[in-house]
Amino acid sequence: MKAHVQVAVIGGGVVGCSVLYHLTKLGWADVCLIERSELTSGSTWHAAGGFHTLNADPNMAALQGYTIKLYKELEAISGLTCGLHHVGGITLADSPERMDFIKAARAMHRHMGLDTQIITPEEIKKLSPIVNTEGILGGLYDPLDGHLDPSGTTHAYAKAAQIQGAEIYLRNPVSDLTQRPDGSWDVTTKNGMIHAEHVVNAGGLWARELGEMVGVFLPLHPMEHQYLITDDLPQVFTRDEELPHIMDPSGESYLRQEGKGLVIGIYEQDCDPWALDGTRWDFGHELLDNKLDRIGDSLEFAFKRFPCLETAGIKSIVNGPFTFAPDGNPLVGPVPGLQNYWSCCAVMAGFSQGGGVGLSLAEWMVHGETSRDVFAMDVARYGNYCTKAYTRNKVRENYQKRFSISYPNEELPAGRPLNTTPVYSIWQQQRAVFGQGYGMEHVNYFAPEGEPLLETPSFRRSNAFSAIGKECHAVRTSVGINEVHNFGKYLVTGKGARAWLDGVMAGKLPQLGRITLSPMLSPSGKLMGDFTISHITEHEYQLTASFGAQDLHMRWFEQYLPVPDVVLKNISMSRIGFQIAGPKARDLLALCTRFDVSHSAMPFLSVRKMEVGQCDAIVQRVSYTGDLGYEIYVPAEQQVSLYHTLANAGVAFDLKPFGMRAMMSLRLEKSFGSWMREYKPDYTPMETGMDRFMDYHKDADYIGKAAALAELAQPPKRKLVSFMVDVIDADVVADEPIWKDGNVVGFVTSGGYAHFCKQSVALGFVPTDMITEGAAFEIEILGEMCSARLFSEPLFDPQSRRMQG
Ligand SMILES: Cc1cc2nc3c(=O)[nH]c(=O)nc-3n(C[C@H](O)[C@H](O)[C@H](O)COP(=O)(O)OP(=O)(O)OC[C@H]3O[C@@H](n4cnc5c(N)ncnc54)[C@H](O)[C@@H]3O)c2cc1C
Repeated sequence: MKAHVQVAVIGGGVVGCSVLYHLTKLGWADVCLIERSELTSGSTWHAAGGFHTLNADPNMAALQGYTIKLYKELEAISGLTCGLHHVGGITLADSPERMDFIKAARAMHRHMGLDTQIITPEEIKKLSPIVNTEGILGGLYDPLDGHLDPSGTTHAYAKAAQIQGAEIYLRNPVSDLTQRPDGSWDVTTKNGMIHAEHVVNAGGLWARELGEMVGVFLPLHPMEHQYLITDDLPQVFTRDEELPHIMDPSGESYLRQEGKGLVIGIYEQDCDPWALDGTRWDFGHELLDNKLDRIGDSLEFAFKRFPCLETAGIKSIVNGPFTFAPDGNPLVGPVPGLQNYWSCCAVMAGFSQGGGVGLSLAEWMVHGETSRDVFAMDVARYGNYCTKAYTRNKVRENYQKRFSISYPNEELPAGRPLNTTPVYSIWQQQRAVFGQGYGMEHVNYFAPEGEPLLETPSFRRSNAFSAIGKECHAVRTSVGINEVHNFGKYLVTGKGARAWLDGVMAGKLPQLGRITLSPMLSPSGKLMGDFTISHITEHEYQLTASFGAQDLHMRWFEQYLPVPDVVLKNISMSRIGFQIAGPKARDLLALCTRFDVSHSAMPFLSVRKMEVGQCDAIVQRVSYTGDLGYEIYVPAEQQVSLYHTLANAGVAFDLKPFGMRAMMSLRLEKSFGSWMREYKPDYTPMETGMDRFMDYHKDADYIGKAAALAELAQPPKRKLVSFMVDVIDADVVADEPIWKDGNVVGFVTSGGYAHFCKQSVALGFVPTDMITEGAAFEIEILGEMCSARLFSEPLFDPQSRRMQG
């Protein structure tokens, strides 16, 4: 065993072995894997071995595609077989909603280059005669689906890594991790100490325990999962070809051929989180007791869908645990708050995702960033709001919904409410319908009297449509009020604050009392954030960005700290308040303060400290609605007082509350982008139009400067543009393909209905040479080709007189 390594990967499941392989692939050979027992000793050995590309996030789906294509490479390098069966797979749809779901997935796959197809019940029957297609409307066929040998594949990763220089230490549990002052780790193992510059937690079923060793809770939980293997069946062994996989969402089951019989696995509603208080260290190659009573209903359903199962003998039953994060995606990347400690766990589909996960983590470690945006699986997408119980509730819900339709407007109920602001009950009294982001409740819209306090999940326009329209109208014609709690906010203070910010932000910094908007870039020139920077007092700046990116941004900032005379604080939860927006917003504010808020005293993009009502407020004249607007921030404990001040004065202007749905509709009328839709680490300033906020040639050597200047010299081949779309009852959501002359030429980032302008709008990327005013395109929405016309002037107030006047 080596005494010193560059990286110690802890855990020899499929994920740890993939990380090890990819580190060597990218050129880091001084790496080792430490395994408690034998390779595959956690969830890996009893996996059903299925793989597929379907994922709601396009980058995750692409990484799954990478994983599947990698197996041939592994076989070639290692000389071992992965036991591949590329048999294809069909996801069944037995209702119009499920047809919408698979059509939306198919559309997303088009711009990703994945060759899936919508097929008819007859085609399903032809591909898989064991399916009873009664009630089936169609299916999504994916030729890449298949299955493999979990143990063979894990060993192929391991052997390939060893061939490329890695070492593997088996039967050697890690019992402690101690950090040295330089950030490296002393890894205590049964067979002695290893000094490692970096450690990777690939502990699978024990990832929680490996987190606890360094004082962090990783939001994941193991769930029990069962599959059955049948005896040989004539419907199977009389065929020349292997049957394709069948995913039957209504039956919560997946089914595939195993030898001359079948395997059927069930994601049952009556499911069980496993090992509530931690995974036993001596849990070995064990299976859990069968719990067939729990899957009785699902099996009955399966007997109807696959009649040959009814009389099949059961050869064996597998009940094993594996881990999930609250949203079912992995937890990958540098763990916020720790140095050189990397997470690579909660991988619930190791054979679909393991390759992509290993590649991404290795890129992150070796190059400092990943080649594509991986926020969907970044460990930093969760914050410390994720308690153990909340995680468990969400994981259970995720398991239950594994095969449910995910609607774009759906708000999942488990574990809610968790975090609320002081005005939560005031909104409740006003019939608020809430959503949740990063653990925090926010109002989506206000349901009119007599309507349900629930938005119908749908791919089409929902029951909330007209209520949202009325909220937009109230803003545009008088004044509306909305909470600003769900922004991430950071206070940067100290004599060194300005110089530090100048190096971190790529835009111009504001003068005292002013606000600027600024991109934050990665070294390769990708967008890491879109910030509002407010210069409040001489050495005091407030940064505002996406609420859900708090851990991402704090982790990023901390990479560039400490610096003398700079203090950074996350104040997202302590400084909250409201925005007021609309033509009467200034009149309303003037009634609530003795401070001069006239245009000359407080122009667009200015910030002032003032008392509003009885509250100590920071007031920013900015607007995401595209209207005259102010954001008023106060200490959290004064939020209710501020509300009453604004609400009482607002009576004179018929002040109306509005929710996030209305805000997102209003921003479309100005073609304003939003974080993780139009702006994310996949895109650059010039691609997204964020170049207008860049200060390319400033003196500071800001992060990403060289890449930004290179882009300036060689403009990008694609750009973000807006479209007016002719639709019937379904607007774009995201990832729909954009067509021109029969070819897919781009993709949608977001959109929806711009209620005040009465226009369905889409934002998306197309090749730069196709961008001309009024150019005709088509956007595929739920399988329908919708005409789309490119436009460049905002639909509402193109001269920005309202916002800036
Ligand atoms: C019944 C069932 C069916 C499944 N079917 C599929 C399927 O069809 N397709 C699919 O893609 N996925 C499937 N899965 C999920 C799949 O098994 C997991 O995604 C995958 O195994 C996760 O691998 P891992 O490497 O992250 O974790 P694990 O396999 O749990 O590996 C973790 C490893 O870390 C080691 N370790 C932990 N702590 C220490 C320590 N302190 N010191 C040293 N070593 C340590 C453990 O011994 C273990 O070997 C299934 C799971 C189950 C339970």
